[in-house]
Amino acid sequence: MMSLDINTLFLVTIYVEAILGLLLLFAWVQNTSIHGVAWWGFAHLIRAGSVMLFGLYGSVPDLVSIDLANALLFTAFAVTWTGARVFDGRSIEPVYLVTGAALWLLVCRLPVVIESVGIRALISSGIVTAYTWLTAYEFWRGRDEALVSRWPAIFMFFAHGALFLLHTPAVTLLPWRPLNTIYGSVWLTIISFEALLFTISIAFILLAMAKERTELRHRTAAMVDPLTGIANRRAFLENAEMLAKRHADAPKPTAVLLIDLDHFKSINDRFGHAVGDRVLEMFASIAQTTLRASDLLGRLGGEEFAAVLYDAPRGAAVAVAERLREAFAQATQDVEGRPVCATMSIGLVSCEMPLIDITSLLAQADQALYFAKERGRNRVEVANLSLVIDNNKPKPAARSAA
Ligand code: GH3
Ligand code: MG
Ligand code: MG
Repeated sequence: MMSLDINTLFLVTIYVEAILGLLLLFAWVQNTSIHGVAWWGFAHLIRAGSVMLFGLYGSVPDLVSIDLANALLFTAFAVTWTGARVFDGRSIEPVYLVTGAALWLLVCRLPVVIESVGIRALISSGIVTAYTWLTAYEFWRGRDEALVSRWPAIFMFFAHGALFLLHTPAVTLLPWRPLNTIYGSVWLTIISFEALLFTISIAFILLAMAKERTELRHRTAAMVDPLTGIANRRAFLENAEMLAKRHADAPKPTAVLLIDLDHFKSINDRFGHAVGDRVLEMFASIAQTTLRASDLLGRLGGEEFAAVLYDAPRGAAVAVAERLREAFAQATQDVEGRPVCATMSIGLVSCEMPLIDITSLLAQADQALYFAKERGRNRVEVANLSLVIDNNKPKPAARSAA
């Protein structure tokens, strides 16, 4: 470490910080939807400026090479923290953004602080640690968003903050004074080297986070129906297959509902397409509250929806279907002041042996739906699987799959 020339290290650090800053800004220009990336880019550029001022120590007044350089450094960490807030959709806090720098410039006027290297080190480490730990905390708060790179980011910011906090006791315990021999001290070399490695790692982790989020959003967009916010056909079928696989060992009675809104064309014709859209949204939200969180719901297309109720015996599934039908009819009596009175027909198939795949269950539900339409709409029809014969059922079966 001793052999590493501190001047070279300063130059390398300035260069690397500037390049990383530009790299992040370039990444942001390519995808301007994630503003946090721009904040992080500026943080690196500000840090490059700060290190440049540190490097001028001796040739410019201490006010510039120490006080101002530190103030810039703290601002850089504050900007990174703000970027983390912005990344997770939280507000920018202008006051806290400049608190570190302002605090530093203020206490630097106090004689006791001017005289004591220990106190100065304590204050500066405290400020950096506060911002890096706050950054780690912001990323932690957003952990519901499943980004793998969020975890190394949390770890890195936490570890870097802890290291900075450790500087202080080290500075006061060690015999030499970093401020007196600022260019030559081993200590400065070590912390500068650590800071350099940190800044490189963190830039790449932050870039990875932004990239991962973009991919996650694309994946979600390909799976979610934009109007209703529920799964689209592809996602629904995938989810159903996953559910079947997951419970292959412990099969429980499963019901599949196929739902088609009645006379929807006429709703569009009479009330307009916008009201039609609103009715579709209402259906989705009513279905979501009627079904359990573990049930699957999807929009197969147009005004056709499907649901899978795992671990729901036939009686319970029929009750859910009836509740859904009634709640929807009730709610659509008034859609934005218009008496729409939309209804739905439901084809239901109940399966005691979940070896049958979702496609064939949907086909049978479709037959039941056909009968529901034929028998006057606004009703639930249950298909009889050839394998599940229920003699107590009063209504004639929609069809037997034989
Ligand atoms: P039935 O009772 O036999 O199901 O009659 P229907 O009119 O509901 O059936 P049909 O399949 O003939 O009409 C479906 C209509 O749904 C036609 C289409 O314009 C409308 N539709 C499909 N997707 C949307 C959508 O996203 N928004 C709106 N507003 N209408 C849609
Ligand atoms: Mg219809
Ligand atoms: Mg239809």
